[in-house]
Amino acid sequence: MKKTLIAAAALTMLAGCQVTQSPTGRTQALMYSAADMNTLGAQSFEEMKSQQKIVTDKRITNYVGCITNAITKHVPASYGVDKWEVVVFDSEQVNAFALPGGHIGVYTGLLNVATTPHQLAAVLGHEVGHVLANHSNERLSRNQLTSMGMQAAGSAIDLAGMQNKELWMQGLGLGAQYGVAMPFGRKQESESDKIGLDLMAKAGFKPEHSVSLWQAMAKASGGQQPMEFMSTHPSNERRISDLQKNMTSAQALYTKAAVKPNCTK
Ligand SMILES: [Zn+2]
Repeated sequence: MKKTLIAAAALTMLAGCQVTQSPTGRTQALMYSAADMNTLGAQSFEEMKSQQKIVTDKRITNYVGCITNAITKHVPASYGVDKWEVVVFDSEQVNAFALPGGHIGVYTGLLNVATTPHQLAAVLGHEVGHVLANHSNERLSRNQLTSMGMQAAGSAIDLAGMQNKELWMQGLGLGAQYGVAMPFGRKQESESDKIGLDLMAKAGFKPEHSVSLWQAMAKASGGQQPMEFMSTHPSNERRISDLQKNMTSAQALYTKAAVKPNCTK
C-alpha cells in the first residue's frame, strides 16, 4: 500500500499526472486536463464530420436526437458539459461513439441492429459512460507514458497542429476509421456497462434491453455487415452476466424515472 502511494506520488511529480478516482471508484492516472481532452474531442469530431456523409433526414435525426437528449440530460452537472452535439453518419458501419466535451456520433448501420429505442439507448449510455469515466484520457496517458518514457511524458498535447492525429484519434476510440481498432480494456468496458445501464434507466429506457442488445450484436456479427462496434466491444457471457447482476438496481432507477421518452422513427 505504502509502496503504491510513493509510486503514485512520484508519477504525479514527474509526469504532471493527476491520480484521481473514476465514477465507480477505480484509481486512475490522468495526464491531460479536462480542457485539453475537450479540445481534442471537438477537433476530432470536426475531422469526422468533414470526412463522412452526414444524415439530414429529419425522421432519423429526430429519432436519434430524442434518445441522445434523454440520456445526456442525466449526465451529472459535475462533468461540466451541458450541451451535447449529435451527428448521424450515413454509413453501413454498425458503430457509435461519444467524445470528451460532449460529441456523439451514430452510424445508420447501428439502427439495423439496435432496433428499439431502448437498445439504442443502451449503446449510447455505454459510450457516454466511457466519456464520463475519462477512459480516453486514461488510455492516452498510458500510451504516452509507455511510448515516450517518463521524461517526455510531461510534454504538452499537440492540439493546434494535431500532430500524430491518427494516434490521438485511436486513443479516443475512433481507430476503426483509420484501420486500427483499439479496444478499451476489460475494466473500462465493464465500468462503462455499469454507468451506461444506470444512465439509460434514469433516462427512462428499459435497462433489460441492454442484454437483448448485446445478443443482437453477437448475432449480427455472424452476418455480412461490417461490425466495427463488435471488434472493439466483444459481447461475451461475462458482459451479459455482469449486466444482469446490476439489473435490479437499474430497474429501480427506471421505475423512479419521471420521464419515459417515446422516441419513434
Ligand atoms: Zn465500450
